[in-house]
Amino acid sequence: MSEKILLVDDSEDTRVMIERKLDDYEVVSVKSGREMREVLDKVNPSLILLDVVIPDGDGFEIAREITSTEKYAHIPIVFITAKTEGRDVEIGFNSGGFDYVKKPFDMVELRARIKSAMRKKQLEQDLKSLTYTDYLTGAYTRRYFIDALLKELEKKKRSEGSIFSVALSDIDFFKKINDTYGHLAGDYVLTELVRIMKKSIRPYDLLARYGGEEFIIMFTDCTKENAAEVMQRIVDFMGREPIVYDEKSIQVTFSTGISDLNDVRSEERMVESIIRIADQRLYAAKQKGRRRIEIQ
Ligand code: GH3
Ligand code: MG
Ligand code: MG
Repeated sequence: MSEKILLVDDSEDTRVMIERKLDDYEVVSVKSGREMREVLDKVNPSLILLDVVIPDGDGFEIAREITSTEKYAHIPIVFITAKTEGRDVEIGFNSGGFDYVKKPFDMVELRARIKSAMRKKQLEQDLKSLTYTDYLTGAYTRRYFIDALLKELEKKKRSEGSIFSVALSDIDFFKKINDTYGHLAGDYVLTELVRIMKKSIRPYDLLARYGGEEFIIMFTDCTKENAAEVMQRIVDFMGREPIVYDEKSIQVTFSTGISDLNDVRSEERMVESIIRIADQRLYAAKQKGRRRIEIQ
């Protein structure tokens, strides 16, 4: 199936011409910003060709809106316009546009720019997912987690009674697992633990690999007591079902420290604090003999 391009232009001549010439793409064209918003989800385009001057608004504004909306941010925007001043080009790029073609345009050039925008945007997406997901386990990275935690904190600290918690877990005696069964078995244990944790949390909770054999979960709308129940279920499950690698049963346990928003409400640097407190509790869990969850 050919890739879809959403064309937003109030000039019928331009629409007809582009639809005819870009016949190796599926071009869906609309006349206004309003129409574009109506069809955007359904069309799910690989690229948007956006006229700067449209009847119900400003293409730059629409571009800003699209690129700042998470679910559309992956769609590259190429502006088409009769405006030729350098200043417009600058605004176009500042509003998140990927490229800029001036009317009347050369179809060979337009085609080349469309191709290049799609390719570059794809590369950008690939790079992003490299920084956001851990290569071994597929869990989010620490960096992504911290960003997400910051956002959640901003959202929650303004509203009274809101809550979320952070659970930091570290596999017990993991070095011994590596030493006994080999590094590949260790890698498999990490991957399996992520799979088990993921399936035990809700879709809107967030799991990241915090370090080598350390994992961190943000439980949204969840007190540390609730989070502890979920973590305990994972511990119990792993007690019943050892991880099997190369026909060998590997018994894996981990320790966890949990903090929640109420632990840090009056503190500065809340993101750092909430993780630090979870880490202190994790340390206490280790001290008290491992395979434990500490929330105080
Ligand atoms: P504790 O119960 O105190 O946490 O003991 P531990 O052995 O789990 O802790 P330690 O920090 O001494 O060892 C962690 C080990 O995790 C050391 C390191 O080689 C291993 N490790 C870190 N990342 C990976 C990985 O990606 N794959 C494998 N197989 N091992 C890893
Ligand atoms: Mg560790
Ligand atoms: Mg460990």
